[in-house]
Amino acid sequence: MKDLGKDIQKIRKDFPILQRQVNGQTLVYLDNAATSQTPQQVIDVIVDYYHGYNANIHRGVHTLSQEATDAYEEARKKIQSHFSIGKPHEVIFTSGTTHSINMVANGFASLLKEGDEILVSAMEHHSNIVPWQMLCEKTGGTLKVIPMNENGELVMEEFHNLLSDKTKLVFCNHVSNALGTINPIEEIIDAAHNVGAAVLIDGAQAAPHIKADVQALNVDFYTASAHKMCGPTGVGMLYGKEEWLQKLPPYQGGGEMIAEVTFEKTTYADLPHKFEAGTPNICGGIAFGAALDYLNSIGMEAIAQYESDLLEYATEQLLSIEGLRIYGTAEDKTSVISFNIEGIHPYDIGTILDKLGIAVRTGHHCAQPIMDFYGIPGTVRASFSFYNTKEEVDVLVAGVKRARNMLL
Ligand SMILES: *Cc1c(COP(=O)(O)O)cnc(C)c1O
Repeated sequence: MKDLGKDIQKIRKDFPILQRQVNGQTLVYLDNAATSQTPQQVIDVIVDYYHGYNANIHRGVHTLSQEATDAYEEARKKIQSHFSIGKPHEVIFTSGTTHSINMVANGFASLLKEGDEILVSAMEHHSNIVPWQMLCEKTGGTLKVIPMNENGELVMEEFHNLLSDKTKLVFCNHVSNALGTINPIEEIIDAAHNVGAAVLIDGAQAAPHIKADVQALNVDFYTASAHKMCGPTGVGMLYGKEEWLQKLPPYQGGGEMIAEVTFEKTTYADLPHKFEAGTPNICGGIAFGAALDYLNSIGMEAIAQYESDLLEYATEQLLSIEGLRIYGTAEDKTSVISFNIEGIHPYDIGTILDKLGIAVRTGHHCAQPIMDFYGIPGTVRASFSFYNTKEEVDVLVAGVKRARNMLL
């Protein structure tokens, strides 16, 4: 396994944006859980597409259309291989995790009946709460919540108690974007299957750090967004087991998703096209594939090791600041640190850090129930990627100390 520490300056050169100045300071980008930066290798693929073979796919006989179709389908295979997915048509291109989740929730509307239960975890992103609430409104199903503890870990005992033959679906993120907790999804998937429930794992926050093997997990649905994995915005994926994708009705009607259309009846196209109505984000899909190539060229294990060291260092340094509390202290964590300083509003810290060129996120991180649990309006969240350094952690810590001195 590579030691990224040795190559870090070379890796950082791949990301042109890391050279830029913000408010007269060199950017320190620590908002990776919201979106990651894009390496030149991926930017080149985007430029090459528009310079060389921009065309609509799957329809044209002309050369450009065939080249674009080949590149797009090649990207699908890269996603298939990255997530150890059995068949290429079990990969559905979407606009991102939110779209993927809505596609599944919408599909289940016709499969659920009154009295059926859906379990979601207490640490979900809004995109994994709201679609299920909408689904319950439509079907008369009931939403139940798997609680979490003070450390930001799911209370697994309660989860097992909530499971019954009424449970039809379980939804949980693989990693919490607000706390960084890595959830025990193997246990969740196995237990849910034991009562006959299907499981969707929201992998948006895990995918940049952990390579999921969906076949080994035996999960029914898994989602990811390219923009959190060094790819562009507006593209993501839904993995679904073939048998589930066959069962679910299509999400949108339109071009590309049909086999035959008359005004009396339309028959749907085969997978994956049944779920891919209209012209997709062709360039984005191809660039998603390039982003996976980039991550794999560095190595996901090396990335995880490097980020874990960075997390440990940053946690130690931040905790040396008086009055600082970290939310999310699970045993198993990715490189996300959510924190507050007693007596200071998170927004004020974020504003001062921005003046110093440091990009962090403040607020509820699209996970308001977590903030309610802790009884706080929000947190400051610093989230690290493999292109961040210990020196940048030092800049953050100095910035937070300065903010504290100014505000208290
Ligand atoms: C970012 C994120 C989402 C939403 O992803 P989009 O790309 O905005 O659709 C959902 N869940 C988690 C855990 C996330 O981190």
